[in-house]
Amino acid sequence: MSPVRPGSGWPGDPATARTPVSRDAEDVVSRAGAARSLPVLDARVSVCRACPRLVAWRELVARTRRRSYAEETYWGRPVTGLGDPTAQLLVLGLAPAAHGGNRTGRVFTGDRSGDWIFAALHRAGYANQPHSVHAGDGLELTGARIAAAVRCAPPGNAPTPAERDTCAPWLDREIDLLPDLRVLLALGGFAWEAALATARRRGWGVARPRPKFGHGARTLLDRPAAAGGPLHLVGSFHVSQQNTFTGRLTEPMLDEVLQLAHGLCR
Ligand code: SF4
Repeated sequence: MSPVRPGSGWPGDPATARTPVSRDAEDVVSRAGAARSLPVLDARVSVCRACPRLVAWRELVARTRRRSYAEETYWGRPVTGLGDPTAQLLVLGLAPAAHGGNRTGRVFTGDRSGDWIFAALHRAGYANQPHSVHAGDGLELTGARIAAAVRCAPPGNAPTPAERDTCAPWLDREIDLLPDLRVLLALGGFAWEAALATARRRGWGVARPRPKFGHGARTLLDRPAAAGGPLHLVGSFHVSQQNTFTGRLTEPMLDEVLQLAHGLCR
């Protein structure tokens, strides 16, 4: 049944029917802040209903479906981060695609963007396979995690500022719960700004003037030693079809930026 009920057997579903549901921004702040582990955080993210417009959209898409996926069950819920809990690298995107992550239940999975980023992560040695097709396909990431700044598919791929801000505590806490994290790789300007906003909320030093996004841009977020020490922020053009079809982003460009991020992880 689309959307998928928590704990009903979807591969990798982190939630159960008893996972607490966040219904507004205050709930997100308190439930994210109180999550003591990534599995708990992921479970709470995956049942969140704090943004009425996004909940309505993700579930409408899940019920109506695209014709080519008409026989499939759509996840239709928030899409959590994926990967290694000891990751040194966090790849950050914008939000799940309506018929990609919102269908498969896995970030960057089921659309062309995912084909690009997982192939690149495989070439860089972070992924055990070059593709991510569905939630039970055996994909594993080592040394890396991948997540979206906003966890629900937005209409037009454009969350509102209020939705972005409501979702932000999930990202903040995910970063807190990655003790070995050294590098944030922002795919696109939205993710870049989301990473800078996390740094400001956490009180970490950010360079002035404000670091500008660009492909290969980098800056140091001055995270205190007690929180894990300085964190590198690296920018990459997003792996959207708009960029990959037009040649604005090529495979060598993506490989190069991943190599840069990998080098900063050491
Ligand atoms: Fe919850 Fe984030 Fe989805 Fe809003 S976008 S409903 S805060 S998971």
